[in-house]
Amino acid sequence: MAWFRNLIQVSATTKPFIKPRNKKNPFPFPITQLFGLAPFSSEAINEAPQVNECSNLGPTKPGEKPRVVVLGTGWAGSRLMKGLDPKIYDIVCVSPRNHMVFTPLLASTCVGTLEFRSVAEPVGRIQPAISKEPGSYFFLSKCTSIDTDDHVVQCETITDGVRTLDPWKFKISYDKLVIALGAEALTFGIHGVKDNAIFLREVHHAQEIRRKLLLNLMLSDVPGISEEEKSRLLHCVVVGGGPTGVEFSGELSDFIMKDVRLRYAHVKDYIHVTLIEANEILSSFDVRLRRYATNQLTKSGVRLVRGTVKDVKAQKIILNDGTEVPYGLLVWSTGVGPSTFVKSLELPKAPAGRIGIDEWLRVPSVQDVYAIGDCSGFLESTGKQVLPALAQVAERQGKYLAELLNKIGTTGGGHANCAQDIDYGNPFEYRHLGSMASVGSYKALVDLRQSKEGKGLSLAGFFSWFIWRSAYLTRVVSWRNRFYVAINWATTFVFGRDISRI
Ligand SMILES: Cc1cc2nc3c(=O)[nH]c(=O)nc-3n(C[C@H](O)[C@H](O)[C@H](O)COP(=O)(O)OP(=O)(O)OC[C@H]3O[C@@H](n4cnc5c(N)ncnc54)[C@H](O)[C@@H]3O)c2cc1C
Repeated sequence: MAWFRNLIQVSATTKPFIKPRNKKNPFPFPITQLFGLAPFSSEAINEAPQVNECSNLGPTKPGEKPRVVVLGTGWAGSRLMKGLDPKIYDIVCVSPRNHMVFTPLLASTCVGTLEFRSVAEPVGRIQPAISKEPGSYFFLSKCTSIDTDDHVVQCETITDGVRTLDPWKFKISYDKLVIALGAEALTFGIHGVKDNAIFLREVHHAQEIRRKLLLNLMLSDVPGISEEEKSRLLHCVVVGGGPTGVEFSGELSDFIMKDVRLRYAHVKDYIHVTLIEANEILSSFDVRLRRYATNQLTKSGVRLVRGTVKDVKAQKIILNDGTEVPYGLLVWSTGVGPSTFVKSLELPKAPAGRIGIDEWLRVPSVQDVYAIGDCSGFLESTGKQVLPALAQVAERQGKYLAELLNKIGTTGGGHANCAQDIDYGNPFEYRHLGSMASVGSYKALVDLRQSKEGKGLSLAGFFSWFIWRSAYLTRVVSWRNRFYVAINWATTFVFGRDISRI
């Protein structure tokens, strides 16, 4: 509950700045304020939500540790925090979620191959300092604006609709700011996508998919339901044939072939998966691997449809050629682009609207601001290409920047506006290690070419699936989650997937 404690600390003080945590007195204000009794009355709770302005985390003083503020707890932000030295910096993280999601295994949680907690890594475990060091915090909030002149970010608390407290705003001063805000799912402005489709990006999306899938399976068994309605309810449509869409389709077909046939035998002939893609599936993979994936998915019963979605209604999709595709579950996975917030920031922009960075991952024209992961891209002036939106890019940028910031901190450049004369050393270099994707039925693709045009090893089949699983098991951040993942895989293999709708 460290994050909750942290939030309370920010919430109620009437003093201009929060005092850093103190071992003897961790709460620098009266106990009544701890529970929001003074500023938040019961009347306020019944009224429409209002955003209160509260106190701030002020600038650090000379002699104090400089403060790194990290926006986001994704691959980039989490890897950065893991590498930052808490003896050099106070680390303050702001994010609407208190965990990092191990996205490559997220699709497996939608059908119960893995449990949700196996892919969620709490930030306090990634960087323990934020739970215990005085001056280091995690705030469950979103950043709403950045003032690069004053070195301040404005944030607003997240209450997820739970009216324990009204949301409030606060400011945090930074010595170094790392923007690691990720990206948003692209909908290409297609009407109805946001209202009717589920995106697969967060753990709560996977939970929604699993609940809906199991609900539809159970509803389709109820007496009185027409054949046509049964087929619609059990039609799972995936839009987007990239690695995520393909992996999810493969997981669904495994679930149908192994678990639905056994445990929902009455409706097993009604459930189908359709994967809609405008071009070829897995377009970044070697042509031989693409063909293999197409054959494998077709063999597992996934219907591949080449088409472009024009409109999404509550129970059917309309394609550009007028074809109507009724569905019971619709999952949207058509790539990512900069979020509305990232687009709104008055910072230099790279092609495609990401935050522009130089070779050292700095945002030029402003002091002490860095951007990493899916939200950032090399500026055209660097002569480098914008890197793909991949975990391996985000993770390596996080690692590089942590080392760079530690070096800056130890050479006296940690405080705001103090790093101008520091030697930054080698710039960030990215070397692509290859791509992997599972296609279901214990089969996967491993493409070790460094680029689409390059030469290199590419494999498909059971051995690749073994490499895929081993590689991801070793990449899982903590031993705790590695253990969970291994146990979940073993349990699923022996007893089948969990089909309880909790
Ligand atoms: C299902 C799925 C499977 C994937 N599989 C692979 C794979 O196999 N291999 C691979 O290389 N890549 C994969 N990816 C891509 C990879 O996950 C992303 O490239 C990676 O997550 C990018 O990391 P990031 O830190 O930039 O952004 P994210 O991981 O998206 O994190 C962004 C963070 O910013 C936070 N945030 C957003 N707005 C705000 C705000 N206003 N204020 C504060 N915080 C905010 C978010 O809550 C989140 O914590 C997959 C992605 C998905 C969705």
